[in-house]
This record gives sequence, C-alpha cells and structure tokens, in this order.
Amino acid sequence: MRNISFSLTTAQIRNRTKTVTRRLGWRFLKPGDVLCACEKCQGLKKGETVHRLAIVRVLSVRRERLDAITPGDCVKEGVPDLCPAEFVVMFCRAMRCRRSVDVTRIEWEYVDCNRCGRPFTEEEMASPHSPPDWPGEMICDECYREYEFPCCLCGEYEDDGIADTFVAVTEAYDKELPPGIYRILGNPFYPTPPLGCETLFNRNLERVADLPGHTDTQGFAIGRLCLSCQREFAAGLAGSKDR
Ligand SMILES: [Zn+2]
Ligand SMILES: [Zn+2]
Repeated sequence: MRNISFSLTTAQIRNRTKTVTRRLGWRFLKPGDVLCACEKCQGLKKGETVHRLAIVRVLSVRRERLDAITPGDCVKEGVPDLCPAEFVVMFCRAMRCRRSVDVTRIEWEYVDCNRCGRPFTEEEMASPHSPPDWPGEMICDECYREYEFPCCLCGEYEDDGIADTFVAVTEAYDKELPPGIYRILGNPFYPTPPLGCETLFNRNLERVADLPGHTDTQGFAIGRLCLSCQREFAAGLAGSKDR
C-alpha cells in the first residue's frame, strides 16, 4: 500500500472532514486504489517513524487547473474558511507554482474494517489483513482471528494456512503415541485414526521431543504450532544431529 502524506492537514484527516486533495504529481492513481494517509512519509530522520492516520480508497482522479477549484471543493479540501482565491494563493505559496498549473484532484472515502466497521489502529494500517477467501477486503486484527489459531506452545496467533511440520500430542490414545512433540512425515497424521487404521496413521508421525511444560491445546488432543515454534524445533533437532 502506498503512503500519501498530509503534513498540513493532519487534523482534517484524523477527523475525516477532508476527502479531497490536489497534488502536482500522483497522475498514476486510479479509482479503487487504496492508500495509507500519513502525517509525514518522506524526509523522516533516523529513528522517526511514519505516523499513519487513515486508510483511504480513491473514488475519482482527474487533472484540472488549480484555479478551477470551487467553494464546495474548499470544504472537501478540509479548509471551509477559505474561498477559492485564498486556497489558490495558499497552494501556490506552499508548492511554489503558478495559479494556472494543472493539478491532480484526488477524492477518496475512508476505509474501516469491512466486517465490524471499527477504524484501523496504526499497527493494523502498517500490516493490513485480508481474508484468504476475499482478498479485496480489509479487516481488523480481531476479525482476522477467524483465519488464525493460537500456537499451543507460545500462544501467538498464526495463519490457519501455514504448513504443519510439527504438532504437539497431549493425550495418549494408545501406547504408540505418547504425549510429545511429533514431526509430521506425511498426511493424514491425526492421533485418533478410524478403528483398524492405527498403523497406517501412526506411521505418519515421528516423536522427536517431550512436551514442554507450557503446552496449551485448549482441550484438544493435538495442538498446532506457529511457524517460529516449528522452526525452533527444526533448528534444535538439526543442531542435536550435528553434535
Ligand atoms: Zn473488524
Ligand atoms: Zn509458537
């Protein structure tokens, strides 16, 4: 997502009274483009972070002369107290341009979570989530929980779609599958196979470690691990083999 900065009209973006901007560039924008409105995107000093204000979806883009602005558009620009002539003077001073210059007029709508309607937090704006079954939609972290599971070792949420290479088995269904961390050798790997299939299923799991004390599978006999916990196990096992 591209950032667009509003250093002079930060308050109007925050309170959402501004829905139009005029820029000298930005000719490449198209209706439907999604942008992150920031306080300041460029010229950040070392250690300074981008302040994200809102996510916006472009509704229309057109080129027109700067001095073609109407009183109605001064309101949409977030400066209702200025008349068109005053707006033009202010713009020319800030951008060092002539009143007859062509500008890109961009109009947008504000985008909130598509599921619950809550505005996004700065953190959510920085790494927005889209549901796998509806990639055009943007949803908040809480609504995205539906597509995640809590890692049974560290409790961090992880994408449902990741590949499992290790699982935690917490209940012993038979003596061949005592509780522990198992490497998945193939699918399916469930510890509760249909009657008579035990050997077939169990062959797909290899016990590699004891269960860590803090395993929480929320009452299930098997628990999924987040990618970083899986990587830790893979690295630990590779390390122990080298020794
Ligand atoms: Zn939501
Ligand atoms: Zn984890």
